[in-house]
Amino acid sequence: MWRIHLSARGENNAQWQGGTQDRPNYRVEYKMWRIAVLRRDGMCMMCTSTEDLQVHHIIPWRVWPEGRYDTINGLTLCRTCHQSISAPGASSREESLASDFIAYTLSTQD
Ligand SMILES: [Zn+2]
Repeated sequence: MWRIHLSARGENNAQWQGGTQDRPNYRVEYKMWRIAVLRRDGMCMMCTSTEDLQVHHIIPWRVWPEGRYDTINGLTLCRTCHQSISAPGASSREESLASDFIAYTLSTQD
């Protein structure tokens, strides 16, 4: 009876304590944001690959909560490039990318 499972999941579940449903990947806003960024970029913005594309938050959520679902804060990367900047110990590369992004954005504003 799969309908029982559907009606019992997430916020409809009286036992819900704010578990996985609260994770960003499950939010409609996140999915819409991800699709919009993928459509805009169409390829990895670091190596131009079109395989295994993922969307990276340029400015981390903890730094810029308002930019979570702003497509300007999204960057399409392939899995390899994404891992190369988000792996443990690679934070300097991620920060470098973020500062490049900020400089670029400021330079293109009127
Ligand atoms: Zn790449």
